[in-house]
Amino acid sequence: MAKTNYIIPVFVPHKGCPFDCVFCNQKRITGNLEDISIDKVRNQIGDYISTIKDYENKNIEIAFFGGSFTGIERELQENLLKVAYEWKSKGIVNHIRLSTRPDYINEEIMDFLVKYGVSIIELGVQSMDERILNMSGRGHTPEHVKKAVNIMKKYPVKVGLQMMVGLPGDREDSVNYTADEIIKLKPDFVRIYPTLVVKDTELEQMYINSKYIPFSLENTIDICKDLLIKFIKNHIEVIRIGLQPTENIAKGKDIIAGPFHPSIRQLVEDKLFNDFLNYIFYNSKLENEKEVIIETNDKNISSVAGHNKSNIKFLKEKYNIGKIKIMRNNSLTDRNVKLFTNRSRIVYNITQYINDAI
Ligand code: SF4
Repeated sequence: MAKTNYIIPVFVPHKGCPFDCVFCNQKRITGNLEDISIDKVRNQIGDYISTIKDYENKNIEIAFFGGSFTGIERELQENLLKVAYEWKSKGIVNHIRLSTRPDYINEEIMDFLVKYGVSIIELGVQSMDERILNMSGRGHTPEHVKKAVNIMKKYPVKVGLQMMVGLPGDREDSVNYTADEIIKLKPDFVRIYPTLVVKDTELEQMYINSKYIPFSLENTIDICKDLLIKFIKNHIEVIRIGLQPTENIAKGKDIIAGPFHPSIRQLVEDKLFNDFLNYIFYNSKLENEKEVIIETNDKNISSVAGHNKSNIKFLKEKYNIGKIKIMRNNSLTDRNVKLFTNRSRIVYNITQYINDAI
């Protein structure tokens, strides 16, 4: 059985970052406005671990989020990593994770990180289109990303790449170009962040002055669904879509505008299943049936139904089906479905659809 994962987040807000990406107000995003203190971090990690029962059998990770970790003063990096490494060297913590910028990685930095047990590194790629990187004030180029990934791959670390959707100047084709370039780099996983207009950022001013129009939620869901298909097809795990909602990460609070939804990942998965089921109905010529039964495992039940049963309503209407019943079948593996009518039995794996799509 897979071990339960525990992630101990340590926020490193905007420390040492001389850049001003138009979308970023790191202090607001991480929700931590105080300066970082090593004692506090030590206590925070210790307190968290003390709440985990039977920790030897758990997968525990200390994750330094926010900011550009390898851009902060080396002494502070070292002090933070030493605290994390104490737990890792005792065998209690399995992984130390951090995120940074592509131009803040080189061999010397990697030697230093690996010495302190860092085993997962995420790079904020955001776009692989130079024009969009410039318009977003990123201060690095796609070449920095390629160089950084090539260096990281020589070390025993997992490589994660973060991309954004809907940056200034972005269009569907530039988003797809970024995803294709990321796929070529073969990361271990990706995160997808739709661009949101956050309070007190340059993007907020651009939005107010009509110089930036965010992507709509509907369009973003469609684009992210296509990205998910691309990454699944290339065996790259998408570990997150959208910012983690917090007290302040909500529309009307720090989010001024943009395609924010607290469950955007679920909406993207719903859309993927809508397309997948439509593909099955169409290819199996399932029309004018009195009843169709769809079996799926627990994990996919809500995606099969769709938000407010939207997928079921769509299929019933489009294919003139009297009744569609969803039934639980946990013997089915992830993203497999079985369909029954009174005259046929159809088993589909989503990879069949994914291989045909895009
Ligand atoms: S590099 Fe990272 S922390 Fe610095 S401004 Fe850009 S997004 Fe924010």
